[in-house]
Amino acid sequence: MNPWFAKAVILIAAVAMVAIRSPHGHRSWQVKVVQSRKGRLEIFLMIFASLGFFTPIVWIATPWLAFADFRLYPLPFVAGTLTLALSLWVFYWTHADLGTNWSVTLEIRGTHKLVTDGVYRRVRHPMYSAFLLYAIGQAVVVPNWIAGPSYLVTMALLVALRLKPEEQLMRDQFKEEYDAYVARTKRLIPGVW
Ligand code: SAH
Repeated sequence: MNPWFAKAVILIAAVAMVAIRSPHGHRSWQVKVVQSRKGRLEIFLMIFASLGFFTPIVWIATPWLAFADFRLYPLPFVAGTLTLALSLWVFYWTHADLGTNWSVTLEIRGTHKLVTDGVYRRVRHPMYSAFLLYAIGQAVVVPNWIAGPSYLVTMALLVALRLKPEEQLMRDQFKEEYDAYVARTKRLIPGVW
């Protein structure tokens, strides 16, 4: 298949991701942050994850990564596209459910409530599940050894290092309410982990 199919899909998916987030980002930035645990590691992880997300744009816009190209086949193209679509759908719902009870980093906002409904009913980190699904979709659809897995590598690191401090932040803030929520939910995959 012509690699431009993959280029078009990942470009549309990336734009959709940013478009889904931006109104929520704008809305939540208007709510004051009352507690922040945004340390140096957290800043590094966010920058690193963004690099993984934008590497396919470099692949599309420049010849720099062409040396790592391989052929695009219909099966990974379709499977990757469907995975990206699913991830965007979950991503949309996580933002809809969290509303302004949300921050791009480890923060608590004024009037912050613990959300336990909607997509948060069965898993505690569905937004990270959506990011990882997106990263898997990208890895499958982009026929390039660097621009394909770039986001999976950087996002997996962010999730691996962020889950514990984020859960600690939520526990410190919401106490028994959070413990009870943890007891009845999984982290990333409903019913599994
Ligand atoms: N880990 C969640 C949210 C990611 S955004 C997910 O993957 O869906 C990170 C911020 O969201 C945290 O710093 C915290 O401020 C907020 N947050 C996370 N889980 C929350 C919940 N269940 N209710 C309210 N806010 C939450």
